[in-house]
Amino acid sequence: MDAPRPLHGPDAFPRELSGRIADWIDDRLAGAPLGRTVAPSEMYPLLEGAITAEGVGAEAAWDRFTSTVAPNTVALDSERYLAFIPVSPSAAGVWMEAAVGAATFSAESWLEAAGAVAAENQTLRWLADLMGLPAQAGGCFMSGGSIGNLSALTVARDQCRPGQRVVACADTAHASVFNSMHMLGLTEVVVVPTGDDGRFTGAALAAALGDRTDVGIVVAAGGSTNAGVVDDLAGLADVAERLGAWLHVDAAYGGAALLLPERRHLFDGIERANSVIVDPHKWLFAPEGSCALLYRDPDLAREVHTQHGPYIDVLHGDEPLWNPSDFGYQLTRRATGLPLWFALVAHGEDAYRAAVRVALHLTAAAVERLEAAPGVSLVMPPSLGVVLFRRDGWGRDEWKAWGERVLREGIAFVAASTWKGEPVGRLVFMHPRTPVEVIDQIVATLSD
Ligand SMILES: *Cc1c(COP(=O)(O)O)cnc(C)c1O
Repeated sequence: MDAPRPLHGPDAFPRELSGRIADWIDDRLAGAPLGRTVAPSEMYPLLEGAITAEGVGAEAAWDRFTSTVAPNTVALDSERYLAFIPVSPSAAGVWMEAAVGAATFSAESWLEAAGAVAAENQTLRWLADLMGLPAQAGGCFMSGGSIGNLSALTVARDQCRPGQRVVACADTAHASVFNSMHMLGLTEVVVVPTGDDGRFTGAALAAALGDRTDVGIVVAAGGSTNAGVVDDLAGLADVAERLGAWLHVDAAYGGAALLLPERRHLFDGIERANSVIVDPHKWLFAPEGSCALLYRDPDLAREVHTQHGPYIDVLHGDEPLWNPSDFGYQLTRRATGLPLWFALVAHGEDAYRAAVRVALHLTAAAVERLEAAPGVSLVMPPSLGVVLFRRDGWGRDEWKAWGERVLREGIAFVAASTWKGEPVGRLVFMHPRTPVEVIDQIVATLSD
């Protein structure tokens, strides 16, 4: 019997194949094909028998990946992906992501990964400065906005005084906010309805609460996911302050717009938040799996999230070290802030500002063309990179058919949405290389 193939060491993987994989990554970074989505009945048979006792060898396994796995996915990184929230990682970010995976920077603790943690903290400080958070603010990078919201809201819950465990948020809050409240046993929620502009304001919160004083947590959006609306953070901070409540700002999608002087005013008040999240894997062009979580007072998070046990207490030395796992619900942790750090160091803040701004130019172009199209109207003027629009006479079925057609014709990947219960079209601009012709092609599909 042959010896099993070695998993490790210099003979574990053919060098020639590593080169081919690097080429595949470079090709992907040059421009990702839109990809496709398939039915389970078509997909699973393609993988049948792939896992065997002896293995097929790295070349054959890679061929299986490139022929069956990769093509049967939709490319969120495509220039023509305009649905949900795209992920448009920078080339530098992708290569650092590969290096981070290879090096296994286990960045839960300072002891194990001082270099990685310090670089991540430098990046968190950069974000905190954009927000105007005080010098002691800090936190960690996590895998995404959902776990970031859960981690922050856990700390918020533990700060609630007895009789003050009610949460207030808007009807536009992200699904993960509602799921987090459920997981945290925060059963009482005041869901404040937003008006036609989709904006959660301090005045609306005050009106909804009347003379209630039992609200201990206020959740605001720094760019709602469905419509890209930034809530009235200053007004909400006023109400939260009056109540002695924790203000959490979910800027997972929109936080990147803090970089733009022409949009910065929308975020006034964010400097008063007790916790904030921003997803670098959204509009800050990091590869998938990155959320920046910041606390105004990180010590409060430490009390909640530090994990104790006989074999990990050594991580907490005599002098307090910065262990990212003390600030969110995750122990073993990939250094998911390093790709952003690396790309920022390489390209500089100005390059980020320019890249983020492209989405606003594309959005403005879409607004102009949609407004000119017969039978088409905007739901609201967009404030960030999300456009919601109506088409006379179109309901759920027409919008569904529209999405399928736009993909089938290779124009773009789009997904319809609803606004206050009404089916509407939705486009999200993010990739700086999205050609403006895509907008014309999409607008054309609305007229016939
Ligand atoms: C995307 C998003 C989330 C969830 O983030 P994930 O990284 O997908 O877990 C939370 N809140 C808002 C506003 C978002 O846009």
